[in-house]
Amino acid sequence: MSAEQATALVLRTYDFSESSLVVTLFTREFGKIRGIAKGAKRPKNPFDFALDLLSLCRVVFLRKSSEALHIITEAKLQRRFRVEQSGLPRYYAALYVAELLNAMTDEEDAHPELFDVSEETLTVLQKGGDIQLLVPFYELRILDLTGHSPALDMCVSCGESVRGRASAQSREEGHPTSGANARQEYYFSLLDGGVLCGRCRPGKRGVVLVPASVIDAMEELRGKTPRDVGSLHIAPSVSGQLRGLLGQYVCHLLGQRPRMHEYLGLSGR
Ligand SMILES: [Zn+2]
Repeated sequence: MSAEQATALVLRTYDFSESSLVVTLFTREFGKIRGIAKGAKRPKNPFDFALDLLSLCRVVFLRKSSEALHIITEAKLQRRFRVEQSGLPRYYAALYVAELLNAMTDEEDAHPELFDVSEETLTVLQKGGDIQLLVPFYELRILDLTGHSPALDMCVSCGESVRGRASAQSREEGHPTSGANARQEYYFSLLDGGVLCGRCRPGKRGVVLVPASVIDAMEELRGKTPRDVGSLHIAPSVSGQLRGLLGQYVCHLLGQRPRMHEYLGLSGR
């Protein structure tokens, strides 16, 4: 067994025995790991209460074989996110960050960029950031960094360029348009994860019609960092629809509804 050191965000903890905890950590160096912290529940312990949910800490662990839990031998608190002080909705959003990190990453698969953007998102949430934009921003970023990036320009099925042709598509398919100023809309496949051209759309399940403004908002969010998300001017109606769309996409990807969706007011369709 070799001793390793890592900077870690605590995603989940549960009691293992009277005195020990099992923790799921997202580390900058090794990605997600799971380990047992023996004696963590005793009054005097080597973990210094650093293994609380959403704590950022420096850990030392003894590496075990692939299936077994690692043994956490030390943890030193670097930072405790106190997002609950910025209101319950932001706290739920912070828990959602932890839930997505746990659900969408594999063990021992390092993603330092995802670690950094997660830490920064939690920092901005704690400072009172706008969850209406930070939640879809974070969903998009974790999707992009884990290989589930939604296709926004090209048809996800055949690769044909789709942007700019959608209103014609909508008319072909007989979708209602609103008078002279027909809104541009795109078909978005929740199963394939991206826009579809009019030729590929027929017969597909799990397709929703999405206004161009929502696709544009996704493009805008993609180029941002958590700190500058607040400078974007996206109408609340658009960010609301975007949250709904990404929430549905995440549900399809995970095969279940994330626990925090209910608390964040996202429907489970
Ligand atoms: Zn196509």
